[in-house]
Amino acid sequence: MTQQLPVILITGGAQGIGKGIAAYFLNKGWRVVVLDRDAEAIKACRQDFDNPDNLLLIETDVSREPEVASAVAEAVQWGERLDAMVSNAGIADPDTGPIEALELAQWQRRIDVNLTGAFLMAKYTVPHLRQSRGNIVNMASTRALQSEPHSEAYAASKGGLIALTHALAMSLGPDVRANSISPGWIDVSAWQAHAPSEPQPLSDSDHNQHPSGRVGKPDDVAAMVAYLVSPEAGFVTGQNFVIDGGMTRKMIYEE
Ligand code: NAD
Repeated sequence: MTQQLPVILITGGAQGIGKGIAAYFLNKGWRVVVLDRDAEAIKACRQDFDNPDNLLLIETDVSREPEVASAVAEAVQWGERLDAMVSNAGIADPDTGPIEALELAQWQRRIDVNLTGAFLMAKYTVPHLRQSRGNIVNMASTRALQSEPHSEAYAASKGGLIALTHALAMSLGPDVRANSISPGWIDVSAWQAHAPSEPQPLSDSDHNQHPSGRVGKPDDVAAMVAYLVSPEAGFVTGQNFVIDGGMTRKMIYEE
């Protein structure tokens, strides 16, 4: 009898951090399901990853319940199991302008994608994750813990995600563990389907302001996902892990 390979589902996995996580797990021999709403990015993934047997790409908007239900059903039929679900899809641009001018629809869209999307993904994957005694990892942000001006909707969505995660951990244990990751500045330029017309290289000061000496990479986040979904993390649930090169521990009072 052939042993089934483990299966990980990653939302927003056709670009950026999610694509980095997909590449990391494909390299480790996992079967990977990517859900993303961006058809162009999905097409680019198909060309970039020459591993069609172990990769399923599904165009899905995680904020739409019928799409999530059907994508999860397709993923489980393909993979015959589900071991881990990374809710990473997000509207990653935090700036929504001054609160007085913030349209309800703009606020609502960030909550719908960044927070409600993670709820829907948990709702439909949990029955399968229970069977495998699997894991949920939600992608929050250091912006759940600290802010720049004009980021109310994004910050609220990510703060909600950390709270959703510890609530899930209480409801689903001991069958399923649930943790969140809060990345700081992660340079995703190598994993973008839509490259900016004039890419700006990172400066020395971009790197050196970090206590770690550099800006983060998708692999930094992927390595934490790999730890969290592994048996080595069997005593870890309901937690939020900050991966920011030390920036949220840095005193920044001006002289
Ligand atoms: P990105 O924009 O490069 O990638 C996000 C992906 O999510 C895209 O492929 C996009 O198509 C997809 N997506 C967006 N809305 C979707 C929807 N409704 N349904 C399905 N897919 C959807 O962003 P990124 O920088 O890789 O960020 C990934 C996650 O990490 C986000 O949740 C973001 O908030 C978080 N994050 C990123 C950073 C960073 O510095 N890059 C820092 C903290 C947190």
